[in-house]
Amino acid sequence: MGKRQQLYEGKAKKVFATDDPQLLIVSYKDDATAFNGQKKGTIKGKGVINNRMSNKLMQRLEKAGIPTHFVEELSERDTLVKKVTIVPLEVIVRNIAAGSFAKRYGIGEGKAFSEPCVEFSYKSDALGDPLLADSHVMALGIASAEDLEFIRSTALKINALLKEFWKGCGVTLVDFKIEFGRTADGSIILADEISPDTCRLWDSATGEKLDKDRFRRDLGGVEEAYIEVMKRLEEHEG
Ligand code: 5GP
Repeated sequence: MGKRQQLYEGKAKKVFATDDPQLLIVSYKDDATAFNGQKKGTIKGKGVINNRMSNKLMQRLEKAGIPTHFVEELSERDTLVKKVTIVPLEVIVRNIAAGSFAKRYGIGEGKAFSEPCVEFSYKSDALGDPLLADSHVMALGIASAEDLEFIRSTALKINALLKEFWKGCGVTLVDFKIEFGRTADGSIILADEISPDTCRLWDSATGEKLDKDRFRRDLGGVEEAYIEVMKRLEEHEG
C-alpha cells in the first residue's frame, strides 16, 4: 500500500491517503513542539521510536480486546491505519500527580492517586486545549453520554493494561494522553499514538524522567531517554 496525496501535516506526524478510502498512512517525524507550539525543536530518531513503540503497544491492546486504528507497520516511520474522524478530545489518564494537574491544584509532582483520574480537554490549539466537564462535552456536541462512558471505560482499561506492561519494564506510567476516532461504521476506536511524546514514563527505581518532559523542561538527554524506554520495552517483549 503506497502513499498518495498528503492530507494533513501535524506537529509530529504527516497523514497520507492510500488507494483504499478506508485506510491512511501515518508518517512519524522527528519534530517536537511543546507549550502549544511555542517551543519547537527536533528529537533525532524520535519518529522511528514513536512509530515502533506505538505500534507495539497498540497491538498489545488489540490482543486484550481494545479496538485500535493499527493495521500494519510499513517502514521505520510509516504505518497503515484505519481512517477515522478524530473525536476532538484529549483523554488524559493520571496515576500520579504531575504536569498541568500538579500546577492547577497547587500540589507537588509525585503524589500517587488511590484511583486513576480521567480528564477530558477540548482538542483546540486556538483555545489552548481547555479542560472539559462531562456536561461540557455533551453541550458542545462532541460526544453523547453513552459515547463518553465508552471512552472513559476504555481509557481506564488501557491504563490498567499499560501500567502493568510498563511495570514489567521497570517503568512507572505516571499519566498519558490518548485520542479516539470514529470509523465509517460509527464505532469508536483508539487512534493517534502512544509514545514518550504522549506519556509520562518514570524509571521505577530512580524516578528519572524517560519522556518528552526532558524536552519540555530542558533537562537534556532527550534522545537517550527515548532510546532507553524503547530498549526496555523490547527487552521485556523478548
Ligand atoms: P499535562 O496535562 O499534565 O500537561 O499532560 C498529561 C499527559 O498527557 C502527559 O503524559 C502529556 O504527555 C500528555 N499530553 C497532554 N496534552 C498533550 C498534548 O497536547 N500533546 C502531547 N503529545 N501530549 C499531551
